[in-house]
Amino acid sequence: MSKSLAGRRRVLILGGTAEARALAARLADQPAVAVVSSLAGRVADPRLPVGEVRVGGFGGVDGLARWLSAQHIDVVVDATHPYAARMRVAAVAAADTAGLAHLRLERPGWTAQPGDRWHRVPDVPAATRTLPALGRRVLLTTGRQSLSAFLPLSGLWILARVVDEPPEPIPAHVRLLRSRGPYTLRGELDLMRTHRIDVLVTKNSGGPLTEAKLDAARRLGLPVLMIDRPAPVASSTTVTTVEEALRWLSALPAQPG
Ligand code: NAP
Repeated sequence: MSKSLAGRRRVLILGGTAEARALAARLADQPAVAVVSSLAGRVADPRLPVGEVRVGGFGGVDGLARWLSAQHIDVVVDATHPYAARMRVAAVAAADTAGLAHLRLERPGWTAQPGDRWHRVPDVPAATRTLPALGRRVLLTTGRQSLSAFLPLSGLWILARVVDEPPEPIPAHVRLLRSRGPYTLRGELDLMRTHRIDVLVTKNSGGPLTEAKLDAARRLGLPVLMIDRPAPVASSTTVTTVEEALRWLSALPAQPG
């Protein structure tokens, strides 16, 4: 295990999620723990966690392993989004290389309820193939990074909800809606009715902040094209709540020296 600073356990939280911010806030109260949160830097005006924050990629597994060592990190908590598939693989590998404890904090996905009309697909390419059969007026909520895959679907009208402006040119059949959650059932119903949406496309992000779109789709009887989560990393210890993560951290062996 790397050297801790002044006997405090130094925890890296890989973030970009509400859970990562909540964990950083809870650990800020613990004098024996020093936290640094890491953001990828994708969002222009991110919601920042409390405490020390660094921004930007590490340069793959080797870059992260070097950074962990240089920063005297003792523990890695990967609380990145369920669809951040590359970072979580790199986090396990780099923690392993550096000989550090690693925890994955991943919120549970949503589950279909009575009345839901979910069509589950494994990934974005499968979603683009399936979508034209489900509707003509689309609310696309999968984010800026997957937007380009849907742009060639020129037979559809697409309302694409994104946090930041995408870099690519947007064709006439796509309208951008810049916004960031949380969303309410009332707001989502208004949005879907106003734009005569007949199909919703979403990732299974889970959590309460963006769940209202599913409630609205159910109320309106709309099909939902649900892109499943990427496969979990087999070797990682995973918890689903901030409370569990805090318990796991407090159960780690005491810091040497
Ligand atoms: P990704 O595909 O797994 O990561 C791509 C690269 O971005 C990584 O290889 C790493 O670069 C860098 N990176 C990712 N997360 C990082 C972090 N927390 N701190 C520093 N570098 C990070 O991830 P993504 O899907 O692009 O997501 C990027 C960030 O947005 C994540 O932090 C995630 O929590 C957040 N987010 C993602 C989604 C989503 O739907 N994917 C939704 C909401 C929030 P290097 O290889 O150079 O280290």
